[in-house]
Amino acid sequence: MKYFSTRGGAERLSFEEAVLAGLAPNGGLYIPEHIPTLPTDWQTKWKSHTFVQLSVEILSLFISETEMSRSELTSIVERSYSTFRHSDITPLKKLDEKTRVLELFHGPTFAFKDVALQFLGNLFEFFLKRRNDKLAPGESPEKLTVVGATSGDTGSAAIYGLRNKANVSIFILHPKGRVSPIQEAQMTTVTDANVHNVAVKGTFDDCQDIVKALFADTKFNATHRLGAVNSINWARILAQTVYYFHSYLSLSSTEAQNFQVQYVVPTGNFGDVLAGYYAKRMGLPMAKLAIATNSNDILARFWKSGAYDKAADSSPGDVAAAAPAHGSSDGKQASSGGVLETLSPAMDILVSSNFERLLWYLSYQSITDGEEASRHRKAGEQLASWMNSVKADGRVQLSKEILESAKRDFVAEKVTDEQTLSTIRSHYQDETTPYIADPHTAVGLAAARRIAPSNDPSIIQVVLSTAHPAKFSEAVSQALSPVSSFNFDRDVLPDEFKGLLEREKRVIDVERPDIDLVKEVIERFVHAEKPVVTGASV
Ligand SMILES: *Cc1c(COP(=O)(O)O)cnc(C)c1O
Repeated sequence: MKYFSTRGGAERLSFEEAVLAGLAPNGGLYIPEHIPTLPTDWQTKWKSHTFVQLSVEILSLFISETEMSRSELTSIVERSYSTFRHSDITPLKKLDEKTRVLELFHGPTFAFKDVALQFLGNLFEFFLKRRNDKLAPGESPEKLTVVGATSGDTGSAAIYGLRNKANVSIFILHPKGRVSPIQEAQMTTVTDANVHNVAVKGTFDDCQDIVKALFADTKFNATHRLGAVNSINWARILAQTVYYFHSYLSLSSTEAQNFQVQYVVPTGNFGDVLAGYYAKRMGLPMAKLAIATNSNDILARFWKSGAYDKAADSSPGDVAAAAPAHGSSDGKQASSGGVLETLSPAMDILVSSNFERLLWYLSYQSITDGEEASRHRKAGEQLASWMNSVKADGRVQLSKEILESAKRDFVAEKVTDEQTLSTIRSHYQDETTPYIADPHTAVGLAAARRIAPSNDPSIIQVVLSTAHPAKFSEAVSQALSPVSSFNFDRDVLPDEFKGLLEREKRVIDVERPDIDLVKEVIERFVHAEKPVVTGASV
């Protein structure tokens, strides 16, 4: 299987090359040259598969055997999911006859990004080791320096994915004092030698600007071989397809034959729901995928108007989009223009990077004549011109046909902070199955409830639960503190979080949001780490 850029060009990469590169040089994202189909007897063959076995089956459809043997893949996958606390890895819980939650937060940092990042860390290590094993004596080993910025919620998943990995250093910048204490402690209590938390006196935007500038600095980038682990990395999407299959098979074993499943996905950068789209295209039976956004609703607006538009109020005739955001996010604008701060911060985005991959497929489907290679080329050209419009004008208006084609596979709903809070409360107070949802999951549950009345009666909704409620304690407490029976420490706080704030921490302070100070830090600490040379013994 080869990979190419959504924005066209002749480049064809192996899986390894696509994973190590992250973003394509022409600004596009890597996609597989075709979407593999499932073996005809998959439903019977995979029926009793564990999560790990299922991962191996699905991932091997996208990774050539010549690149990675089945036993190598199995060992990587086994190690990746051995860190999860639940034997099902991603268990499915029944809330009522028609609703399930697919809990994706049983990994080390209590959020769904662990599913992909535990795998990605092991992949990086595997690829680097294989390269370094081939070195001649005296050649210096390949190393990777991963740099990222976090406002709190996703940095820890990257740190836990890469901690203690040979020849990988990780630097995560966070705005000092502006990250919730639990989230800060989740990052800074990881004291492995290759993990560097950098607390920058400044805002999250300052941190992000520094990271962008580091990647744009070709000299620094080449010297340190900077790597990114953000959600556009193909390996992350791929790893996330597995739980769609796993939950479908688990439902099949408990439900009558004639059910349909609708996945409802709290969405930010479109990675999680895109994995569902790949599962659907591979042949996993499912109803339309439901995208749930918070007040940062560029996707919900696209599915109404066909305009992919950063600004909520420039799409004519879209009354809902023109209305101001509700709830506690009212008027709270971040400095970078347009992003609203909401109670579900991991979904606070202006544009969804991975949406570009879906747009490529929509572009491709709109080109019906010509050979495969020419359709690929034209799709890439059309996509590149759309993305140029987004860059230049902040928007692109797609045709009615494209919108219709997007509507065949997806529905989209926007959920406000107010609705998020009331959804957390109502599920907690449910008499038969009380459930404490984190605010991201609650966005999904609220969207599911809104969509359900127009669904076929055979549909069971599976809402992806993307974080443990303890991780977003503020929103959960805001929703539930009015309920007298609620006690956060007793009802929500997992043992793993107890005492976290008191544990030993390691953090590097940077006094100003200044790229040169950050460069100094990276150089100093990378230098202090010893490269791990294996194989080539002198
Ligand atoms: C990252 C994240 C999301 C959004 O996932 P995308 O793949 O970016 O759409 C939702 N919830 C939580 C808790 C997250 O960390």
